[in-house]
Amino acid sequence: MVVGEAISTHDGAGIWRTLTIASPRGLEPAADFLLGFIKIHVLHHAAKEPVYGLALIRELQRHGYDLSPGTLYPILHGLEAAGYLRHEERLVNGRIRKYYAATARGQYALEQARPAIRELVEEVVEDRGPQHLDEPFEADSAPAG
Ligand SMILES: [Zn+2]
Repeated sequence: MVVGEAISTHDGAGIWRTLTIASPRGLEPAADFLLGFIKIHVLHHAAKEPVYGLALIRELQRHGYDLSPGTLYPILHGLEAAGYLRHEERLVNGRIRKYYAATARGQYALEQARPAIRELVEEVVEDRGPQHLDEPFEADSAPAG
């Protein structure tokens, strides 16, 4: 069963689009979270080598995401407009193919995200964080008003 959820994303050119992302492995979709995962994932692969859209779609499929080109390309264009990716055109089997690679800004963003991802995995996946959060002492909280 493919469960989709409409989300909105900014394509970087001032246009808001509604995208549908199928949930991985039949999990309840939280499309706004998934979009962030997908962006980081795309950036990760584009930081290793130039990648083209259909290869990314196949790779994301391997991870359980079912994205159409109409969903992926606005994400790529948005990342490019934000300065994280740039593309070059290559002629492959008589057809122009756009290859996307991470820019220095994209590499930097990925470096910045890595420790945050590690922490998130430790807490959310491995449950190695605090089991409850202490309530602030009343003396520490600012008086209302
Ligand atoms: Zn991957």
